[in-house]
Amino acid sequence: MEKKNLDWANLGFAYMPTDYRYVANFKNGTWEEGALTADPNVTISECAGILHYCQEVFEGLKAYTTEDGHIVTFRPDLNAERMKDSARRLEMPPFPADRFLEAVDEVVKANTAWVPPYGSGATLYIRPYMFASSPVIGVKPAEEYQFRIFVTPVGPYFKGGVKPLTICVSDFDRAAPHGTGHIKAGLNYAMSLHAYVTAHTNGFDENMFPDPATRTCVEETGGANFLFVDRQGRIVIPKSDSILPSITRRSLVTVARDILGFSVEERPVKLAELDQFAECGVCGTAAVICPVGKVVDHGREICFDSGMEKMGPVVQKLYDTLTGIQMGRVEGPKGWIHTIL
Ligand SMILES: *Cc1c(COP(=O)(O)O)cnc(C)c1O
Repeated sequence: MEKKNLDWANLGFAYMPTDYRYVANFKNGTWEEGALTADPNVTISECAGILHYCQEVFEGLKAYTTEDGHIVTFRPDLNAERMKDSARRLEMPPFPADRFLEAVDEVVKANTAWVPPYGSGATLYIRPYMFASSPVIGVKPAEEYQFRIFVTPVGPYFKGGVKPLTICVSDFDRAAPHGTGHIKAGLNYAMSLHAYVTAHTNGFDENMFPDPATRTCVEETGGANFLFVDRQGRIVIPKSDSILPSITRRSLVTVARDILGFSVEERPVKLAELDQFAECGVCGTAAVICPVGKVVDHGREICFDSGMEKMGPVVQKLYDTLTGIQMGRVEGPKGWIHTIL
């Protein structure tokens, strides 16, 4: 398959329409058969539920070209399951996991020319999503839904080198206790945009959202989960019911514990103890793990031992191992790599 003529290593993280996307509709109480389409546009009623009451959930994963030339995805079964959990919380009909997995393969196969080559640092980002497509004006769940998957090539996250982030503790809340923080839904992002823009305006890369009930514990950034390394070399993961269960973070925990032999603790992490940590990173599909150099909690500055120039040694080891597994250079736990081609 001839690849598209793109400058892979210099792609950013932006939408570029590719040749095919997948569409399936939920009507009369069932998910109809889906199909690929070349049309990148969605046509829906002006009164569609998504447009008014924001019934939408999504996923994000990537396809990688491995060292030996295969195209693979990383733990797509977890994305399929998480999307079902997200859908249930918003009273949407879950899209069956087996069909989710088949559809991801189908879209990637149809867009092979857009899958970045090994060594370019670029990857194919895969975005499954579903939304209420039928008219809703009285507040209630819609009757019809659409599930779609598009793919778009994205560049290396650490283009131009690793730059540790500077993060501020936000004055805004991301996820209410007993709310929707643990599901992957557009509504969580809509309400975090103001906090994100405010952080940027103030010169920060990201927000650290504290738990809204007490504002004393660390939750997440709004798009990535935190991971800390203490000065004894132990890994500490914040625990809370309103953190989105990142597949990358869960995978890093397994890598740390079972492959690299670190001790890992999952527990509430207090803002007050941040200065006890040597390293901090934020984990998600986009970067795998991105180092954090500094957290500013209003007047208080916490500078991690790893500094503002590079990844700390533990974060680096985690990054190298997980990206090694994804690119087929390191053997991972059974079932983590799904070969498409
Ligand atoms: C998607 C997402 C993450 C990262 O999850 P991954 O599965 O690792 O990509 C973290 N936090 C939020 C709020 C998210 O939406």
